[in-house]
Amino acid sequence: MKREKSEALFEKAKKYFPGGVNSPVRAFRSVGGTPLFIQKGKGSHIWDADGNEFIDYCGSWGPLILGHANAKVVDAIKKTVENGSSFGAPTALENELAELILSNNKYIQKIRFVSSGTEAVMSAIRLARGYTKRNKILKFEGCYHGHSDSLLVKAGSGLVTFGNTSSAGVPESFVNETIVVSLNNEVAVKQAFAEFKDQIACVIIEPIPANNGLLLQRKEYLQFLRDICTENKTLLIFDEVINGFRIGFEGAAGYYKIHPDIITYGKIIGGGLPVGMYGASAEIMSNISPEGNVYQAGTLSGNPVAMAAGIAQLTECLKPNFYQDLEEKTQFLIEKIKSHLPSSIIPFNIFSIGSIFWIAFTDKEVVRSAEEIDADSMKYFRVLHKELLERGIYLGPSGYEVGFVCEAHNEDDLVKTAKAFGEALEIAMK
Ligand SMILES: *Cc1c(COP(=O)(O)O)cnc(C)c1O
Repeated sequence: MKREKSEALFEKAKKYFPGGVNSPVRAFRSVGGTPLFIQKGKGSHIWDADGNEFIDYCGSWGPLILGHANAKVVDAIKKTVENGSSFGAPTALENELAELILSNNKYIQKIRFVSSGTEAVMSAIRLARGYTKRNKILKFEGCYHGHSDSLLVKAGSGLVTFGNTSSAGVPESFVNETIVVSLNNEVAVKQAFAEFKDQIACVIIEPIPANNGLLLQRKEYLQFLRDICTENKTLLIFDEVINGFRIGFEGAAGYYKIHPDIITYGKIIGGGLPVGMYGASAEIMSNISPEGNVYQAGTLSGNPVAMAAGIAQLTECLKPNFYQDLEEKTQFLIEKIKSHLPSSIIPFNIFSIGSIFWIAFTDKEVVRSAEEIDADSMKYFRVLHKELLERGIYLGPSGYEVGFVCEAHNEDDLVKTAKAFGEALEIAMK
């Protein structure tokens, strides 16, 4: 496989950007080698600068549920941008996307559009603090909520801890407002509420944690969080930036039938353009400026071109059987991969929900917390990733990342992928 052009582009990029990239995981640090510079995408396929073709399961890290350059999304973008790209004044397109979402989601009544998942979560946290007039937040080890200061905090040692910053530049004083506990641990959450009585503004969780492996939670656990939040007048935030519109139009709230107080969305909502959103009851949302005193704003919020792309994409998601078909394809892929498994003593499993899947070198039947992931097993993923690239299959470049099946993947793609997996796993497990 030729890599010269990607390599030359990466050399140049390193002069302009730290590590040669504008978002760290793109740098291929955890799998080694040079990141591929992508030239174009169509449907389920992408092409790099050297002309190599890949079947793509990264999908821009989740947003592209219809695949690349979907005709309806592209048309909507073109039509809209002809009339201008941004006004900083309201447009009817914002109403249209809001109506599409709210009339099909009974868990939220009012929303605010922003420009990224990070912004959605950061704003939701501020809203929770403003609403409850409390400062502390509780998060879980192994959930990612974007890169705002209060959330770049990882667990310290102990059952209930204030975390340690997971990034330089986050003040210690911020960390002291963020409590971090393990997923799937009721005792730790109960202890946190006992220790910090009447101080916790919100509990934030990825209800389907999919940024550090796929750590599927028990419904009972999510219900437990709902109940303990209600008892303590703490808001429950579901961060559905990755799973929203991915496992069903109502995301995890609809899947588990649990009503959080605030929900954040991103990724799929913008049809591949930068859109985030947070939503809640009309009562909670009335605290947002200019109605209330929690300030939050954005020059490009509700951007018309991005709204049009979102409308086009979400309209497709609402078609009958859309999610069922995606899930069936995903199950087909997983079963095919398993049928090609080499005989080896190295344990291997694929976890999935809807059209999200995670490749794990583990003998565990369920993995519910970050602590259960064996960091050492990532060495197998490194080889798998490299060998799959050689065979024209593109996965996100980290064993902690999940893969996504999109509407554009067809049977031929899935069969080819499974065969490539068989060969690549054979090498990875040697
Ligand atoms: C991707 C993601 C974010 C951050 O979104 P960005 O658009 O990258 O800022 C936040 N929360 C979750 C659950 C995510 O998956």
